[in-house]
Amino acid sequence: HIKIGVLAVQGAFAEHRQILEKLGVETFEIRQLRDLEQDFDGLILPGGESTVQGKLLHDLRLFEPLRERIESGLPTFGTCAGLILLAEKLSNDGHTYFATTPVTVERNAYGRQLGSFYTEENFEGIGKIPMTFIRAPLIQRASQDVQILATVQNQIVAVRYKNQLAISFHPELNNDLRVHQYFVEEIVKANQIQAKKAA
Ligand code: GLN
Repeated sequence: HIKIGVLAVQGAFAEHRQILEKLGVETFEIRQLRDLEQDFDGLILPGGESTVQGKLLHDLRLFEPLRERIESGLPTFGTCAGLILLAEKLSNDGHTYFATTPVTVERNAYGRQLGSFYTEENFEGIGKIPMTFIRAPLIQRASQDVQILATVQNQIVAVRYKNQLAISFHPELNNDLRVHQYFVEEIVKANQIQAKKAA
């Protein structure tokens, strides 16, 4: 049995919950400190607006407890604004947030005109998947120990680092369950097995 918390202060959290529930995963919304009292196996940081999410995380005092959990190995999946929250460096923004994934990210890198676009590209371990980009961040640099899972026109759009999966696009918008399934199978379940071995 797997239970995943979806950060629900702003953005596309409902869509992530729908996909996870189709995969038979129990989900709940993280809106306030109290929501973190229960045990859970993974965390989703949805797309939306990272500056708004960052401010709310601090105002609601969710920031530090979540940062500590991510740092100490909680399987975490950030999409779009969620990738921005995870990035160690933001090249065009004075802020950083959790800063637990060693990548440099440029916000709104695909420009105002290009804004949104759709493509289908290969994702390591899955195959061709639909990718919807909405004013998406670009992963400009990834440290050597970061695994690159997908690129679009030679630009990195999906990475994995230890317990963290971070991607530029919105896999919750295409009714395709495979990226979430990858997160659940490859990161959440692998982590449970390791935790059991250690116990
Ligand atoms: N442009 C948003 C940001 O900088 C991210 C866009 C998204 O999550 N769709 O936070």
